[in-house]
Amino acid sequence: MTQILIPLKQHVGAPCKAIVNAGDHVQRGQLMAEPNGLGANIHASFAGRVIDVDGDNIVLTIDEEQDFSTYLPIIETDNPIKAVENAGIVGAGGAGFPTFLKLACEIPEGVFIANGAECEALLVHNVKQMNEHIDQLIRGMKYCMEMTKAPKGVIAVKGKHRALITRLLKAVDSEPTLDVYQLPDIYPAGDERMIVREVMDIVLEPGQLPTEVGAVIDNVETIKRIVEAIEDHKPFIDKDVTVSGRVKQKETVFVDVPIGTPVKTLINNVGGYVEPHGEIVIGGPMTGRSGDEITPITKTSGGVLVAMPFPQESRKVGLLICECGGSAERMTEIANNMGAEVVAAERCKRMVEVNGRYRCALPGICPGQAQTVLSLKKQGAEVVMTGSCSD
Ligand code: SF4
Repeated sequence: MTQILIPLKQHVGAPCKAIVNAGDHVQRGQLMAEPNGLGANIHASFAGRVIDVDGDNIVLTIDEEQDFSTYLPIIETDNPIKAVENAGIVGAGGAGFPTFLKLACEIPEGVFIANGAECEALLVHNVKQMNEHIDQLIRGMKYCMEMTKAPKGVIAVKGKHRALITRLLKAVDSEPTLDVYQLPDIYPAGDERMIVREVMDIVLEPGQLPTEVGAVIDNVETIKRIVEAIEDHKPFIDKDVTVSGRVKQKETVFVDVPIGTPVKTLINNVGGYVEPHGEIVIGGPMTGRSGDEITPITKTSGGVLVAMPFPQESRKVGLLICECGGSAERMTEIANNMGAEVVAAERCKRMVEVNGRYRCALPGICPGQAQTVLSLKKQGAEVVMTGSCSD
């Protein structure tokens, strides 16, 4: 009998409160946990029996027979924002912010932006979604524009996707309120403040939200889940995932992977590892985190990337921290896995403190880092590890 884990925290905010108990049998789509403060509903993505509920997960023994073509629908409502809330939709691009809260704001002179940047290298599932389901994307944008009262909608895509941009432009040709914007081919093009700067020519202060200047931004897959909630009453129980790296079939997109599916299932489905292989990264190469074969897919897991084995490094390492890239904790973990000692850490000089958190003042307009590197060297660093790919 196969056991899977459904994490109670798949979003920004506190872990959800389970409303099922050990021994309960659940159907696919059944509500299993509710927000405990900021958060979003969690539904069963498999039919099965609950065998344990702890502070972190609901543990399910899944039924041998599964019908992934069906699910228990969410409570029907005429209110689209309520449908998004009932469905438990959160930012599927990785942020995990509850989507109904984003959509509950009104921007009558603003713009709703579909974030199709596919910011992280190696991930391709959002581009596939746009290529194959333009009509669904356009319907989703219209729903979001209606909910936020935005008079204008923009699909933001990196300029390198020329064929896709041509198709999107053709599709919005007869839609006077919709447009397509070409983002630069850099990291972090998908950062919300960078998108606002590009699309609206407004520079948000670090810590300032897009809504403060009349923008609401949702990732392309989030918009797909919004359409499913409104049109099909479907809860957010499946996730699109790119699997790549040291696996037999690179750049494989799995559409609608049931949440809770262990990572190893996806790796097996692409023919297994290319040996030798190293760690499994959940998410993108820049902001992903280390996982393992039993790590469950969640609402925010965009990628399963199998890395090469860590090269060994005996020199002393200095960390150059970028807000949008690998965190100091993640880089320290990588350095330690390489056998290296971290002797110093410095933030990019564009990072400023806002409410106790360091934010980038101008994402994507990256300065030279010579001074910072010199400072790291003065502190004993022999090599530098950077969390940004821009400089
Ligand atoms: S300016 Fe600095 S903190 Fe901001 S994206 Fe560039 S490297 Fe990262």
